[in-house]
Amino acid sequence: MADLVGFVGVGRMGGPMASRLLDAGHRLCVYDVSEEATRPLAARGALVAASPAEVASTAEIVFMSLPTPDVVRQVALGGNAGLVNGSSVRTVIDLSTTGPGVATEVAAALAERRIGWVDAPVSGGVTGATAGTLAVMVSCPRATYAKVEPLLGTFGRLFHTGEKPGLAQSAKLANNILAAAAMVATAEAMAMGVKAGLDPKVLLDIINASSGRNTATMDKFPRAVLTRSFDFGFATGLSYKDVRLCVEEAEAMGVPMVLGGTVREMLAVTRARFGAASDFTHIAKLLEEWAGVEIKG
Ligand code: NAD
Repeated sequence: MADLVGFVGVGRMGGPMASRLLDAGHRLCVYDVSEEATRPLAARGALVAASPAEVASTAEIVFMSLPTPDVVRQVALGGNAGLVNGSSVRTVIDLSTTGPGVATEVAAALAERRIGWVDAPVSGGVTGATAGTLAVMVSCPRATYAKVEPLLGTFGRLFHTGEKPGLAQSAKLANNILAAAAMVATAEAMAMGVKAGLDPKVLLDIINASSGRNTATMDKFPRAVLTRSFDFGFATGLSYKDVRLCVEEAEAMGVPMVLGGTVREMLAVTRARFGAASDFTHIAKLLEEWAGVEIKG
């Protein structure tokens, strides 16, 4: 079953990525704790397994797109149901953002069973996952990279960062702390400008033609804040996890992250106020509440 690929965790990101594998002609065996998540793929012919181990007994290559480091560790190594106990799996590819620590640990445990590990965290959101325009950061041995490159190419543009497990995760954390910082700084600047009397749309147009433009001013605010939809597609709890992992990694290496610590606390407050499942564009709602303004188009 060389063309059959496994996929564990088919949520907001994993769902559209798995769908692209089907579009490319691969057969799929999927597992997710949510039946709602697997249903659209099952309707397109994907097999639905009862555990990660069952996926790993069906496919040689298994992708994961899971929320947190703990869930990745559990799915890969946990008890009888873990991927490590599958009879067919040779390579596990982690598309999640989980930080270099868990990548190093899980890669070593899988290596003992002669199962290869590929870090492949992605950036570009649900839109990029659907269109196949993600940035895919990959760390794994060169020979493995040659094997998985065509499959990963289905998701977007690849960047091979090196062979060391976790290296691609460090790249992803560096990117995500910048994206979160841009979200926080934009919320503060927009709240100030709107309270001063500026039209939010005009202010965004000015910033996007000026030196302050960033991914929040160009995409997140026009799409999910000015429209009041607050549905960019990335959970506050996951953004908090990314920034926390980044600040912790930096601290462990002796790299001070003064601004990073503040961004982490802003996400912690947003999570406490609106819940971990809220969309992370709620950072703007927090500033609206504090400032007593609405940033609407
Ligand atoms: P999500 O919550 O929508 O999807 C995660 C899926 O994993 C869900 O369907 C959930 O049911 C499933 N799951 C949870 N525990 C499980 C378990 N034990 N076994 C099997 N399935 C399990 O999250 P998402 O937004 O798709 O994010 C997935 C990963 O991708 C995260 O690490 C996130 O940080 C990263 N990421 C997200 C985005 C984004 O814009 N949403 C962008 C880049 C990277």
